[in-house]
Amino acid sequence: MTKIVFATNNLHKLSEARHILKDRYEVLKLGDIGINEDIPETGITLSENASIKSWFVYNRTGLDCFSDDTGLEVDALDGRPGVYSARYAGEEGNPEKNLEKLLKELEGVKNRTARFKTVVSLILDGVEYKFEGSVEGEIIREKRGTGGFGYDPVFVPSGYNQTFAEMPARLKNSISHRAKAMRKLSAFLTGQTNEKG
Ligand code: IMP
Repeated sequence: MTKIVFATNNLHKLSEARHILKDRYEVLKLGDIGINEDIPETGITLSENASIKSWFVYNRTGLDCFSDDTGLEVDALDGRPGVYSARYAGEEGNPEKNLEKLLKELEGVKNRTARFKTVVSLILDGVEYKFEGSVEGEIIREKRGTGGFGYDPVFVPSGYNQTFAEMPARLKNSISHRAKAMRKLSAFLTGQTNEKG
């Protein structure tokens, strides 16, 4: 099977990607190719950060690879935390504290609409391609559920009653921002494979 590197060590993201690409690709994580440090996300957009991560891997290893960068945009907060979602409550990137800070900022706020956005950067033979996915929803007032990760316990996608953390992983992984971007990636890779024969 063809190998491709996903520039992440996040096991939730890895299992989502493996699920979507499973028939054709063996998806390796950073640790599998000996990269154990965090890649600095110094961009000011999701797209830039996705590029930084995938080029880091490509320049170091020459392997085909992809990365994702995700942000949660809350309308009442003018799109924050956005690209700073991972370190909203400070540099140490503590998901629990990020979530508490978000709920505190939204105390008493009526408009709770928000969306997750993902940008995926793929590098194949030294050429970069981008794919995007997003999901609309609302931030609830208290955490619910134990599945998923990050902001999942407070995000209810439009058209559902459960938070991402309450729904079965299979459901989240079929409707999420990242699933949408990954499906575009998967369709693109299928096209490439067919072209090469
Ligand atoms: P990154 O894409 O790993 O940089 O993620 C940015 C921030 O968004 C981190 O705080 C993650 O915990 C959070 N995040 C990324 N994807 C998801 C998701 O699917 N659900 C909830 N939070 C997420």
